[in-house]
Amino acid sequence: MKIGFIGLGAMGFPMARHLAKEHEVIVWNRTREKAERHAREHGTKLAADLAACANADVIITILPTSTEVDEIVDQLLPHVKPGTLWIDATSGDPNVSRITAARLAAKEVAFVDAPVTGAVVGAENATLTIMIGGTPENFEKAREILRLNGKTLIHVGPVGAGHAIKVLTNTIMGATVWITSECLLLAKQFGIDIKTALAVTNAGSGRSNASENLLPMRLAEGKWPLVFKLMHHDKDIRIAASLAHQQHASTPMLALTQHLFSGALQQLGDEADYIEVAKIVAKMNGASWD
Ligand code: NDP
Repeated sequence: MKIGFIGLGAMGFPMARHLAKEHEVIVWNRTREKAERHAREHGTKLAADLAACANADVIITILPTSTEVDEIVDQLLPHVKPGTLWIDATSGDPNVSRITAARLAAKEVAFVDAPVTGAVVGAENATLTIMIGGTPENFEKAREILRLNGKTLIHVGPVGAGHAIKVLTNTIMGATVWITSECLLLAKQFGIDIKTALAVTNAGSGRSNASENLLPMRLAEGKWPLVFKLMHHDKDIRIAASLAHQQHASTPMLALTQHLFSGALQQLGDEADYIEVAKIVAKMNGASWD
């Protein structure tokens, strides 16, 4: 299979590498040096230009938001071939995806939204969970490709369903990180050692991915690696809030989470890691995790 792969960021770079084990992969990236390095190191082919990616059976995009995906669709639309499958692995906006799918369908190009979860380590190890929106037939086609990137591939529903569930699960994670940070800070200020507070939380009903995996390294060991940019997490929560708005839903926790993350983004900046919101929790209380 010939694959045109667009977007060699933190996630795309390792994902394209795994696909090249079984497929002919043509890579394109806005910053060309990354695509040159990928071709050099991982046996992929450097696209002469963006249009070269349209000369493929499958096009994969993994970009920051649906806005950048839309820009790429605009540029490739005159070049795409009927029968191509477009897989968008961006954590995008389900409403935009539906419009994109319709635009591509007019050119007889199929579309699935296939956002991923599992972080960069999951992309490196090909253990991602991938949630796919599209027809059952297109899901099967996408699964045959994406099985090289993930262990769990789930057909969620029609186009847009993958993007919807992705932003909703990330919103759950964001709210959990925030409330867990608040409670652990209170424990610390009460004089309880942070490792003890984490141990009790993780042995009890308050445990979560945040308390078991995300917070201990940062709060107890002072290590704050950049794993997932806060701007991406904020974007996901804002999309979730827009879905609530669209459905006239009453979702005060979601609205609060969105405001907290947008406020944290203003203070920490786009390139901060998403778990650095715990620093804002401390700052709001005149405290620190040190
Ligand atoms: P990065 O910021 O690391 O990479 C973004 C990629 O998009 C780069 O290749 C960048 O090119 C390209 N890009 C940015 N703007 C444009 C543009 N205007 N036109 C063309 N290309 C552009 O992002 P990630 O790989 O971390 O994330 C990608 C998607 O995956 C996001 O939607 C994110 O929410 C999601 N995601 C990320 C996870 C993570 O842990 N990082 C986990 C799960 C999902 P250039 O190299 O030139 O900057």
